[in-house]
Amino acid sequence: MSELLRNSLIAALSKRAEIKLTCEPETEAIEGNASAIGPKEDAETNQWIRDQLNAGNEWAWCVATVTVNYKGFSAFDTLGACSYKSEDDFRKDGYFTDMVNQASAELADKLIAASTAITELLTPMKLECAGGDTCTKVITHIDHKGWTYCTSHGKQRQIYVPCRKLTATEIAKLECGETIPYRRKR
Ligand SMILES: [Zn+2]
Repeated sequence: MSELLRNSLIAALSKRAEIKLTCEPETEAIEGNASAIGPKEDAETNQWIRDQLNAGNEWAWCVATVTVNYKGFSAFDTLGACSYKSEDDFRKDGYFTDMVNQASAELADKLIAASTAITELLTPMKLECAGGDTCTKVITHIDHKGWTYCTSHGKQRQIYVPCRKLTATEIAKLECGETIPYRRKR
């Protein structure tokens, strides 16, 4: 699929898919991870985070996860060591938009892969003549063991074992990987 189509898909998903934002407690230490400006500033930031956590602001030190869901398909992106005043504060940050885009891109790739798989599954298989390694003629016959043959090889085969002509419907079924009974139902 072209890059243009992929980009359109990402844009459509970021508008129409269900987008969930969740936050979980960050297990990494606040000290050394939240701030690295200077001893005074770092101590102030770390204290602010601890105060906020105590006050019930889970966004003060957390792992944020954006999940994008569409018709049973989903993808997510996470960001650790987040420190915000609130969920709204996080949503206003550019990181949130980046995460939505990242998860939407991953979901777009999953949908493209599913679409490619469907196309492959429904593409008829090339039936080969068992009458000779080099025979590339169109299949018209089947023997009682299920081997398929072209008309000339099928007629040769008929001399030795039960071998009959296939109907167009049967050929279509075989091309889709389905099995058919040798004996036709009457
Ligand atoms: Zn043949």
